[in-house]
Amino acid sequence: MATKISIKELDSQFAKIRGLDLVIGKIVEAGEEWSEPVGPTPYPDITALRSWDQRLLARYPPFYSPLSDFCEFCTYGKCDLTAGKQGACGIDMATHQGKWSLLTCVMGAAAHATHAHHIVEYLIKKYGEDHPIDVGSEIGVEAPLIRLIAGIKPKKLGDLKEVLTYLDNQVTQLTSATATGQEQAPVDYESKALHAGMLDNLALEVADIAQISALGLPKGNSDTPLVEIGMGAIDKSKPVVLCIGHNVAPGSEVINYLEDKGVYGSVEVAGICCTAHDLTRYSKNAKIVGPISRQLMFVRSGIADILIIDQECVRADVVDEARSVGTRIIATSDQVCAGLPDLTEKTPDEIVKALLTDTPAVLVRNPVKVGEVAARAAIEAAPQRKSEKGLKDEQVLANTSRCSLCRECTENCPINLDIGYAVNAAKKSNLEPLQKIFLECIGCGRCDEACPQSIPVLSTINAAASAKIREEKFTIRVGRGPIRDTEIRNVGRPIVMGEIPGVIAFAGCSNYPGGNEDLAKMADEFAKRRYIIVASGCAASDLARYRDENGQTLYEKYPGDFDAGCIVNTGSCVSNAHPIGAVIKIASIFAKRNLRGNFEEISDYILNRIGAVAIVWGSQHQKAMAIATGANRLGIPVILGPQGVKHRRAYLGRSEDDEKWSVLNARDGKKVYGGPAPEHLLYVAETIEETMVMAARLVMRPNDTAKGRMIKLSNYINLHKQLYGTMPDDVQRFVRAETDIPITMKEDVIPVLEERGWKPIEIPDPTLLDRMVLRRE
Ligand code: SF4
Ligand code: SF4
Repeated sequence: MATKISIKELDSQFAKIRGLDLVIGKIVEAGEEWSEPVGPTPYPDITALRSWDQRLLARYPPFYSPLSDFCEFCTYGKCDLTAGKQGACGIDMATHQGKWSLLTCVMGAAAHATHAHHIVEYLIKKYGEDHPIDVGSEIGVEAPLIRLIAGIKPKKLGDLKEVLTYLDNQVTQLTSATATGQEQAPVDYESKALHAGMLDNLALEVADIAQISALGLPKGNSDTPLVEIGMGAIDKSKPVVLCIGHNVAPGSEVINYLEDKGVYGSVEVAGICCTAHDLTRYSKNAKIVGPISRQLMFVRSGIADILIIDQECVRADVVDEARSVGTRIIATSDQVCAGLPDLTEKTPDEIVKALLTDTPAVLVRNPVKVGEVAARAAIEAAPQRKSEKGLKDEQVLANTSRCSLCRECTENCPINLDIGYAVNAAKKSNLEPLQKIFLECIGCGRCDEACPQSIPVLSTINAAASAKIREEKFTIRVGRGPIRDTEIRNVGRPIVMGEIPGVIAFAGCSNYPGGNEDLAKMADEFAKRRYIIVASGCAASDLARYRDENGQTLYEKYPGDFDAGCIVNTGSCVSNAHPIGAVIKIASIFAKRNLRGNFEEISDYILNRIGAVAIVWGSQHQKAMAIATGANRLGIPVILGPQGVKHRRAYLGRSEDDEKWSVLNARDGKKVYGGPAPEHLLYVAETIEETMVMAARLVMRPNDTAKGRMIKLSNYINLHKQLYGTMPDDVQRFVRAETDIPITMKEDVIPVLEERGWKPIEIPDPTLLDRMVLRRE
């Protein structure tokens, strides 16, 4: 960790020093082959990158959309903050929203930092501190985020401990800034939120490179196996262990135990959400039931004999739901104790006995013990599970007979499905509307709670769609982890020149209407247009749950390379570190910029030169916002899809304000107009059309060559015409010279430019950092 030495005054026989601040990074071991000099910000503290943040926030000021007009943080309140009013502590609405921003991001960062702690501690206990960090033979830059932020090159698991200590310290300091009476300016809350986002991204990388190295998960190979995904992929005739959450440790121990006993093939080990991804990365025989939206549906089906819950994205009612269908539960994390008795210190025999008799839900905070207990209990419990415990057709009809078509369920559906109409149709023996709703439903269960007739609406949807559920089986390419340096060398130049139109990373939590289809259609369209597509977490699962007109899933249709026209699944939520890492590696490997503790320069490079954008389609939780905000600090724009507005904040640029788009031309130091590229840093889109057009716009960068800009403009104009039927009204802002205009579109574009008073501009060598100017005139 960096050490700062301040010498106010020294007067000795050797030297006279006054007012010296000396920052020393980590002492480099003799013989260490990493010769890169340490940049200015190794292990940055919560204000070290404040000036970079202020540059970003001046160009992309926060736009707030409060969900409430009141502040209720302290006992002075609640305070009305409408129409410029201040609360009792002096806070105004913008500051209040800035505080929410920070709180949201710091919650997300804390969740991922804790996850990283748990997995690293588990792996160190099992494999030792000296277990090498090895994420693949074609990967020299093994940890771009750690190198960039911490300024260290981790060689073994034990090296990650100092990064975890840094994360703990920073998350505590950021949390402290949210207490009443602390930070007080929106711009500083947002700078701290950006810091929290950066920490979040760092934690993702720590967790994933640790598990790749120690558990033997795929190391960046493009052709990982295709595995089954879907509720119909589970063989119900076998004992079923279902894992929900994000920490693969307990689930992997179930597989270890079954393999040791030679019975793995006779037990189904399946997962929902990110643990599912990591289970298939660990063993290709594991199954993915689906994303988070399938959690309640599958638990209610009663197919699982044992439910293991670890941490993050676990529904608060899952224990009660599992109990109600006779599924035994093992909670495994300090983070989700779920009110259960702690049997960690008991023997496996005692825990299995308790689970099968009088204590069907327990807490066991030891992954190895969980592995044995879950496997044995599932094998013993399975014969008692006669079949699915979901509703039968006759029960569906009996329940729906009570429907009064009051539409309370419809009113409460967060994605506006007309569930009341569908239930009423079922009352008249027409199950088709319910079956259609099954495909779009996000499984939240709010309709159940809303129904005054106590109709179990979600179970009714499941029952009506039971045939579809049995068929719901797709394929997904197993998460491959990092992007190889060799791939970066191939695509670095065409990306920076703009000839590959962009890198589009899909993430998100599937809490959006239209099921997975919209997401898959976007990925398909951009892959056809030769963008590089990357997905992780629930978005990667949702991409798999769609077949095109030829019956192929996207993973069957497109190769898994990090290259134009390919679709990469990096893995679970923590694998979101890899698309971000790939963008950093382009700056490092292709452009040869120093990484080590050099955050501002790398971010400046990314913002001005690398056409990457993330689409977070359904950003349910705080972690999604933290990941997005971390990407923003690095200069990567993010589009939040449906529900994203509920995060209350966007970072929006104003394309008409020319002053905001000036950059320094590194060739001569002159301040010049670089154009609104990228136009926004955090944008909320409500429709697939808006998202696609915006993504094509946000990949433009001031550095694009004429050929690159031509390709990007061609996609932008073409998508706008295809989806809206018109030429974009801002095309003149993205044409810098006539050579930028796509050849086949000249006839259309030139009259528009003339009509709008367009004038050519010089293509700069763009930077926002004064120190990057090479030569001044
Ligand atoms: S469970 Fe499905 S239908 Fe019911 S409220 Fe949620 S999304 Fe709507
Ligand atoms: S809330 Fe219940 S009774 Fe009312 S329309 Fe929905 S299912 Fe029918």
